[in-house]
Amino acid sequence: MRAEGAGIEYTLVRSRRRTAALVISTDAVLTVRAPLQMPLSRIEILIGEKIRWINRKILEQKARPSAGVKQFVEGERFLYLGHEYGLRISDDIKGSFCFEDGFVLSSRERARAKELFVWWYKREARRIITERVALFAQRDGFRYQELRITGARRRWGSCSAQGSLSFSWRLVMAPLDVIDYVVVHELAHLDHCDHSSRFWGRVRALYPDADRCRKWLKTNGPALDLI
Ligand SMILES: [Zn+2]
Repeated sequence: MRAEGAGIEYTLVRSRRRTAALVISTDAVLTVRAPLQMPLSRIEILIGEKIRWINRKILEQKARPSAGVKQFVEGERFLYLGHEYGLRISDDIKGSFCFEDGFVLSSRERARAKELFVWWYKREARRIITERVALFAQRDGFRYQELRITGARRRWGSCSAQGSLSFSWRLVMAPLDVIDYVVVHELAHLDHCDHSSRFWGRVRALYPDADRCRKWLKTNGPALDLI
């Protein structure tokens, strides 16, 4: 349910919990999780008490890089390997979509723009990540079973106990050194199926820039998306 308290719009979710909690989502919206019986007046008081914290969190979330909603219009910028490239809508290209130091979309295909972008990102992710996995697997002596490109939103990569590696196609929007870090991270899971200190020691030994890349993903990860 949508509601408003202390001049702030929020989403109210009631459940069988004992105390109320305030959450600011990554799109800077306040959600109040409250017990079933808690009166609205009590919730409003809580919001009033926490108003400074709420406003600070909302500003923080708004300042974060985010993907925003894509319109697929002329001149709009899209990420690829850590760089932004403009989109051109053209009446005379042969196919539907191509990349020539920028994205070009046929004006006839506007309605399918998102689909075509995702198709292209997936293809590029498969090409580049396959290459990087092969490179680091050979360099560091890892053997893996298979490599999959997934649509995962918040997991950049994963490694199954059977030795199959998965990577999100969204990763191809990140700079190559960040992709390499995720690749080495997942390869290291072939030897360590956890995030123990031994695992991190191994990752840092194989990829000295790991901590910086990890931080980069934490800050910029939400922007690596098409919404
Ligand atoms: Zn991991």
